Amino acid sequence: MERLHHQNLKNNSSWDIIIIGGGATGLGTALDAVTRGLKTLLVEQSDFAKGTSSRSTKLVHGGVRYLAQGDISLVRHALQERGILQKNAKHLVQREQFLIPCYDWFSVAKYLTGLTIYDWLSGKLSFGKSKFISKKQTLEMIPGIKSKGLKGSIRYYDGKFDDARLAINIAQTAIKNGATLCNYTKVTALVKNSNNHVNGIEVIDVITGEVSKHYGKVVINATGVFVDEILKMNNPLAKKLVRPSQGVHIVLHKSFLNSQLALMIPKTSDGRVLFAVPWHDHLLVGTTDTPLNEHSLEPRALQEEVDFIMANASAYLNKRPEKSDILSVFSGLRPLAAPTNGAINNTKEISRDHKLLVSAKGLITITGGKWTTYRRMAEETLDLAISHADLVAKPCITKETTIHGCTEITENHHLDIYGTDRINIEKLAQDFPEMSQKLHPNFPYIQAEVIWIARNEMAETVEDVLSRRLRILFIDANAAKEMAPKVASLLANEFKQQISWENDQIDIFNTLANGYIYQPEVTKTHSALTN
Ligand SMILES: Cc1cc2nc3c(=O)[nH]c(=O)nc-3n(C[C@H](O)[C@H](O)[C@H](O)COP(=O)(O)OP(=O)(O)OC[C@H]3O[C@@H](n4cnc5c(N)ncnc54)[C@H](O)[C@@H]3O)c2cc1C
Repeated sequence: MERLHHQNLKNNSSWDIIIIGGGATGLGTALDAVTRGLKTLLVEQSDFAKGTSSRSTKLVHGGVRYLAQGDISLVRHALQERGILQKNAKHLVQREQFLIPCYDWFSVAKYLTGLTIYDWLSGKLSFGKSKFISKKQTLEMIPGIKSKGLKGSIRYYDGKFDDARLAINIAQTAIKNGATLCNYTKVTALVKNSNNHVNGIEVIDVITGEVSKHYGKVVINATGVFVDEILKMNNPLAKKLVRPSQGVHIVLHKSFLNSQLALMIPKTSDGRVLFAVPWHDHLLVGTTDTPLNEHSLEPRALQEEVDFIMANASAYLNKRPEKSDILSVFSGLRPLAAPTNGAINNTKEISRDHKLLVSAKGLITITGGKWTTYRRMAEETLDLAISHADLVAKPCITKETTIHGCTEITENHHLDIYGTDRINIEKLAQDFPEMSQKLHPNFPYIQAEVIWIARNEMAETVEDVLSRRLRILFIDANAAKEMAPKVASLLANEFKQQISWENDQIDIFNTLANGYIYQPEVTKTHSALTN
């Protein structure tokens, strides 16, 4: 298998900027660095967006909830970023209508006032005006919601996106501009000079087992919930920066909402908000906020989190979903900035804004924030890195940098998600008719997509394809398992791998996918986890 970026890594031992972590934050930072003319290396221990960045609620938003908490500046900045991202990644970020159903007139007045402020904060980058919608119209727009006691709804606009695909496209944009991005490359130690300043990383190539050292003027720790592990490599006594908070989503058939619009439930039983968002022709419902003491790349939903989502969604839906209706369940960990004054169990109160700090000479850490604000976080990180290491660099241009694939979407076609690459996939399917065959009778994905992904999107495994390129693992885990043998065979052929590799890939994927199939008998509870 050709791994061009690992070749670049071997041929170059010194860099201006080294970034650890290939999620939204790290990839955005790599794009910012390289477009300022800096020699940039990013290493990711797994696939790009394997961590939190593929597990979001898929909203490009200012955060209506943060407005209610009075965090005006966070909301205003996020709304600006929403507009910038929509302009630069049109193929992946769409304007979406959200309805907040109101069952009393006080709620109507409260949400309309709040959302009018929300619109106003977005200024010239507004997505559209919020307004009151009558009960009759609400039920026409979202026939799936409960009508008893409904007074009407507030309609507002926000953004919706495909998180993992955006991550891949940002990676491609950084590469196009000259950055070197190595997936499946894990940092195992920080390298220091005789003054004890961080000046590099030691990595292991997770696929070949090769170990190597690389030197940089600044090392940026953008590892999400893993930041403390890197900080401990610098100083084993370093205080914890991050407290993970788990958020779970379930995916249902779209008929449960029976609408193209999204539903926002403003007050759940624990005082949070819950979203039901149409996504890839299905319905994504979430999320939760569960403080955890441990983190992993594959966190699992807890029983009470699934119960919470089901109970709160059912209170608003006519057709009550049963647990057997869950097509996929996935969890992500928020890298929330930990409080400094001891343990807090209520993670809603920990700031969603990011933390950026010089952790040691040569080591900068960036954590927290939101997907929506990745670009702004990257800009701030680079500004700090440049002044910290006295680097000579051009000004930031990412507000104007279009993301790979960016184009206007005109039809509702499943290949739209590839943006400008769609035409190449269609050509593959035309030139090799067997490539136009579907991967699964119930889904539109075709073989040509797998070949395109293998050749152009740095996928290495069946999981990379089914999880973060086609997204089917997040949509319907059983269907993903059914597609795995075909995808494994196409990849084995493309990568010139043996049948044993193909079989291993299917086994590994099936084991992983079982964790996305809701199984009450194996789903843990919070107390079982903490005991
Ligand atoms: C449930 C949930 C819903 C959310 N919904 C939204 C939303 O709708 N909209 C929004 O704007 N934001 C949302 N967010 C927030 C957003 O998803 C995160 O802020 C963002 O994805 C964080 O990205 P990151 O790059 O910091 O972390 P990650 O995506 O976790 O990336 C960190 C990367 O570092 C890698 N790494 C770790 N250790 C090493 C090492 N030693 N060597 C190399 N690599 C390493 C990991 O493998 C990982 O890929 C949500 C978050 C959660 C949890």
